[in-house]
Amino acid sequence: MKSRIAHSAVPTFKYKVTRYLLEKEVVMNWSTLNKCILMLFLGSLMHVIWAIWKSVVLLTPELWRWVNLALLKQQLVINLFGLFVFIGMIGICHYFRKQDWTRRYMPYIAVATFVVSLCRDGYLVGVLSPATMVTYISLPTVGLVLFERRIVYSALIPATLYLVSCGYLSFFGQLTYAPLFLLTDFPYKNGFWVLSMLFFIVPILLTCLVLFEILLSQWRYREALIAHLSQVDPLTNTFNRRSINQCLEQLNHKQAPSYAVILVDLDHFKQINDEHGHHKGDEALVQVCHVLAGHIREQDVLGRFGGEEFILVLKQATAHQAKQVAERCRQAITQIELYDEHNQPIHFTASFGIALSHHNTPYEKLLSQADQALYQAKAYGRNQVVLYQPLEPAAS
Ligand code: GH3
Ligand code: MG
Ligand code: MG
Repeated sequence: MKSRIAHSAVPTFKYKVTRYLLEKEVVMNWSTLNKCILMLFLGSLMHVIWAIWKSVVLLTPELWRWVNLALLKQQLVINLFGLFVFIGMIGICHYFRKQDWTRRYMPYIAVATFVVSLCRDGYLVGVLSPATMVTYISLPTVGLVLFERRIVYSALIPATLYLVSCGYLSFFGQLTYAPLFLLTDFPYKNGFWVLSMLFFIVPILLTCLVLFEILLSQWRYREALIAHLSQVDPLTNTFNRRSINQCLEQLNHKQAPSYAVILVDLDHFKQINDEHGHHKGDEALVQVCHVLAGHIREQDVLGRFGGEEFILVLKQATAHQAKQVAERCRQAITQIELYDEHNQPIHFTASFGIALSHHNTPYEKLLSQADQALYQAKAYGRNQVVLYQPLEPAAS
């Protein structure tokens, strides 16, 4: 656990793109209509891929013996028509995006049209073929991430019933199985069939992979951001009280060797706010944090304990070391360069209370001891460091 105060670095292009994708939550944050446009665009690509496959087969007479040529020609026309329909629907989503009916019904219509195309081709290449199975698993998974459940299920349930019915009817000889292919043998032995399946599957898998990569990165980023926001004080970018308590709990739990807790409270800070405004007060708090962070080691922890109160946890520190660190911090705070609006310097000081853990002192007790020492520092006139001294038991 190390307190980090924001530092700057020159961002690279890749860094900028990644940040843009993550922070703007591209795709995830899009409106349902924009997601529809993305899906229709992918649907158009799918028709192009099918049309390419069919054109290649039509232009290669050696392959004709493996396919139902008449059906293939008919399906090529349907693919081109499908492409036209999808592009038309993209246009409708785009040009009528402000209309209430577009926003309400187009997601259903678009998802249904997309799924109908898939079901038709699923039947043509075989409902149990790898291409159909991969599509059947990938699409609802991505669909559920992008769209509301009811939109996805309104298409998924009829599609499932359709595919199951086709499978059932084919099994009982009522329907031709995979009518686009003319295969008498076990299909996995046929190179043309295997390559065709790969040609259908690879674009689907790649698209799903890219989408999932974007969506999962955004999820991870969001989770990290929430964790960060719950641990860090937004003004000073140091740990908040909850994180500090967790850190102290861990130290107690691990039975860590002696460590020191230093409470730092700015003196008469209310006056700075009253005389120079809350904004200057905030600036002073940030500067104090920079100073404190600059005087601790990598393993030590800095946190904001409350308003103008900070805490340092020095791991594996003796009383002497803790006093030295606190003294250096105290002096550094008196030298902070802060100026008011008339460019006049604003001086301020801080008081320090130190307590040392002995034989695993509970951290609540340690905090109370540091607080008592801090109270003494204030009582002695402020701008000083006081180490908590346990009272010697009275001699009997
Ligand atoms: P003492 O020496 O006894 O500690 O006096 P003090 O004025 O520092 O203490 P007091 O508890 O009376 O006042 C603390 C002040 O800290 C009051 C409050 O306005 C200010 N403060 C607390 N949090 C913030 C903050 O986030 N920003 C600013 N600008 N001021 C804050
Ligand atoms: Mg205070
Ligand atoms: Mg104070």
